[in-house]
Amino acid sequence: MRILVVEDDVNLNRQLKEALTEAGYAVDVAFDGEEGHYLGDTEPYDAIVLDIGLPQMDGLSVLEEWRRAGKTTPVLLLTARDRWSDKVQGIDAGADDYVAKPFHMEEVLARLRALVRRAAGHASNEIVCGSVRLDSRAGKVTVNGQAVKLTSHELRLLSYLMLHKGKVISRTELTEHLYDQDFDRDSNTIEVFVGRLRKKLPEECIQTVRGLGYQMLDFE
Ligand code: CA
Repeated sequence: MRILVVEDDVNLNRQLKEALTEAGYAVDVAFDGEEGHYLGDTEPYDAIVLDIGLPQMDGLSVLEEWRRAGKTTPVLLLTARDRWSDKVQGIDAGADDYVAKPFHMEEVLARLRALVRRAAGHASNEIVCGSVRLDSRAGKVTVNGQAVKLTSHELRLLSYLMLHKGKVISRTELTEHLYDQDFDRDSNTIEVFVGRLRKKLPEECIQTVRGLGYQMLDFE
């Protein structure tokens, strides 16, 4: 899962990036509204954390522009104060949720998890695919009830495939959603990680759809 953080407060931006990276997301950051708007417009994020008070272009205008252009990426708004008018304006502008500053990082993480999950059509934190069970809140995977140890890269890849189970996902889409913009993108990396996942999970779990990509299907 790849997240964009648009926050002009340098310290807060860094804290968000660190916490989100630790939670297993690939994270890009922007420090003003124009840069944030550009990145959100051109890169495929799974969710965006957007501050309201930004230089160059304020957060609400950024959000309105994205929505006008048809962007449906889930947006979590950071409101400066616990002001009801900010929240109403934010929701009207197309925000999916908001957190008032100062906030606990755990709350931002929980709200983001819910946004990403709901955008993919899942009501619960737990996604099941055959004998594989993913608890996205705890970041834990089990096969037939037995815990499986995955690296953060493997977990990221599996989470994306499971969130979009049934859908064929191309290597390009995986690369775009699993790595931040500074990552040296080499599509062979994806194959390596898929290979490792297949060794840790039931073999039929991740199907290769020739020429198109990968797909997870419910299996017995
Ligand atoms: Ca600000």
